[in-house]
Amino acid sequence: MSNFSSSSALPDLTLYDPFEGMRFGPQHCFLCGTSITPGTDTVPVFAEWLMSRYQLHERQIKLLDMRIVAYKDLRIACCSSCRTLHVEPLEAQVEAAAQQGPQGIRALEEKTLFLWLGKMFYGVLVTELLNELNPLARPQYPLAENAQMLRRFQAFFQTFQALRVPIEFDDFTPASVFILETDSAQDVVGFEYDDDLTTLVFSIKLGAIVLTTCLVDNGIIRQAMRRVYEDAQRPLHPVQVAEFKARVYYAAYLLNVVPDYYPRPVHPGDDHLVYDSVIDDVTGDIFNPWENSAYGQSLLEMWKRWQIPTEEIMRDPQQPISFLYDELGQPRQVERYPA
Ligand SMILES: [Zn+2]
Repeated sequence: MSNFSSSSALPDLTLYDPFEGMRFGPQHCFLCGTSITPGTDTVPVFAEWLMSRYQLHERQIKLLDMRIVAYKDLRIACCSSCRTLHVEPLEAQVEAAAQQGPQGIRALEEKTLFLWLGKMFYGVLVTELLNELNPLARPQYPLAENAQMLRRFQAFFQTFQALRVPIEFDDFTPASVFILETDSAQDVVGFEYDDDLTTLVFSIKLGAIVLTTCLVDNGIIRQAMRRVYEDAQRPLHPVQVAEFKARVYYAAYLLNVVPDYYPRPVHPGDDHLVYDSVIDDVTGDIFNPWENSAYGQSLLEMWKRWQIPTEEIMRDPQQPISFLYDELGQPRQVERYPA
């Protein structure tokens, strides 16, 4: 990767931490912290190409404090150099991939997907955080007062700096990224997104492709769900995708560790940073114990569109219903639901 002939143009390897002084406002670029004129330099949380493709501009989002905003009004502060050098090229790359359909998205590097999903997650998070810092707003729950949540956000932002600073992750991937595909014959929804700010789970549907990620688990959830993920590599009914997502959301909720990241010391002439990561699991288990009733709640939430009541989900309290697997634990085909 090193190219000594161009050493005069070495990239800036200085990391930015917006949590220092809680600089999330419109005065600072979200990626590098540069002071900007509020309102002039911004980028959309959901890129223009995405909003055009799925007619999102006027569509509305309900925030945690019940405030309603249009997609097109969700924007984050971004200096012109971060916009043109980092954000727009990333969006152009994902747009080009999306135009090639599912195989185009699958061909993207996982790091690219991590950064792309991370940018949207971060944009929504910042919108909610700023809202909380507004003394007139009444947050549903105080994000900024939960110490473990803040640690997670901070850890995520350290790896997310890779959008601006060349960073190599040594021997780990910061996130679990899942790519699923729906059966187009059974699928009517072109676009949707959902997230859980507290566990850093974000999911977005682009036509037949559904991307779901936990942004700060060092790939632990994907490791734990390896078999389910392999079995889900086939066209799925949306009710099956929803079940898969319920499992990711619940696993992220049970996840009991926050990774620590350590940039290695920089030497003159270095053209990128190298991060090491340590997961301190000395204090307990990586996951808190699985509870079927709580998992059932996650299913209930994800299956809202099909209105499957709790009594049906929990018919067998030891084994909440599944559309991904049959009673014998074999992958199940769902042609249509309800039947
Ligand atoms: Zn910037």
